[in-house]
Amino acid sequence: MNYELLLKQNNLKITPQRLGILQLMHEAGHISIEELFASIKKQFSSISLATLYKNINAMLETSLIKEVKAPEVKARYEISKTPHAHLVCHVCGEFKDIHFDVVHVAHTIADTSGYTINDTSLIVSGTCPKCQ
Ligand SMILES: [Zn+2]
Ligand SMILES: [Zn+2]
Repeated sequence: MNYELLLKQNNLKITPQRLGILQLMHEAGHISIEELFASIKKQFSSISLATLYKNINAMLETSLIKEVKAPEVKARYEISKTPHAHLVCHVCGEFKDIHFDVVHVAHTIADTSGYTINDTSLIVSGTCPKCQ
């Protein structure tokens, strides 16, 4: 994945911190702010939590990354990709992508309700095999 290009396409300034954040996010798939802060501190020891949030918010604003929220577990961040659903373990907080056509569901709902849909998120939660 070309992180410099991603930032450029989103009109965001390319900084070593942002490149580091994107790489960690890509490797983790879904990462909480605490996990991200712990890992990014190893690369940039002087980075503050406030700076990390500022970078995260700038990338959220342009939709380069997405916040994934689920009940009872901490929010995670991921690099935006094609719309998908999430499977979440409420014990360990693991997030898994599920390839499910959420766009089709949104279209069906728009057709039957008359709503225009801005955002769709589908979370399925349960207990993962490891935590059972
Ligand atoms: Zn689990
Ligand atoms: Zn995901």
